[in-house]
Amino acid sequence: MKIGAALEFNLIDYPGRIAAVAFTPGCNYLCPHCHAAPLLSKAADIGDEGFFDYLETVKDWVNGVVICGGEPTIQRDLVPFIEKVRARDLAVKLDTNGSNPDVLAGLLSQKLVDYVAMDVKGPRFLWPATAGVEGNEAAMAESMKLVASFPEYEFRTTVAPVVRAGEEISFLTAQEIAAAARLIVSVTGRDDHKYFIQKFVPRKGGLLDERLESFPETPPQLLQAAHDEALKHIPNTRIRG
Ligand code: SF4
Repeated sequence: MKIGAALEFNLIDYPGRIAAVAFTPGCNYLCPHCHAAPLLSKAADIGDEGFFDYLETVKDWVNGVVICGGEPTIQRDLVPFIEKVRARDLAVKLDTNGSNPDVLAGLLSQKLVDYVAMDVKGPRFLWPATAGVEGNEAAMAESMKLVASFPEYEFRTTVAPVVRAGEEISFLTAQEIAAAARLIVSVTGRDDHKYFIQKFVPRKGGLLDERLESFPETPPQLLQAAHDEALKHIPNTRIRG
């Protein structure tokens, strides 16, 4: 599988575990606030061999592997890679943008992934702007239903600036985050999900849309308001970051 980098193992990316992180380059979305932009286009490919060489050096410390990106589900050899990880008795977490429900369905039926984190890019009417692509609504909805069937999972939304009609740019509002939470509940038919509200962090020279680089971090009061609104629909809503 294409792996751009083996990122430092840590306690943050896989809740409850110490995990090594496999970063897969390439993504089928173009989120304007994307932080992975430099890695998406310029990452080297260390391949399975490079990653498992790294894993060997940290094997006494880790009990999980996070596969993130980019978008891991566009990687052709994702399944054999995961099988190699599982053969080492390590739990697997997958981070996804939800664009490939068929891949998620396969991983679910083969019981290959223990934890899935899916980005929900705000309310449905803003997805073309927040994800940078059109026409992915059906796939995103199907993925939400599948994700809620994995042994462990979370949904998460970054309260990022959005380029709106007329090129006005402003943060997602608390009401728009509430609409995203309502959508998750309506698509899955349940409200017992873990839902994380995350802050946007600007990075000079590191975002897909450089107009967003002049924005500050998501103000704490907006994060709190977004949390409070989402909580009305998903009781297990938390702020991350
Ligand atoms: S933030 Fe968007 S463009 Fe960037 S890796 Fe995630 S889904 Fe892809």
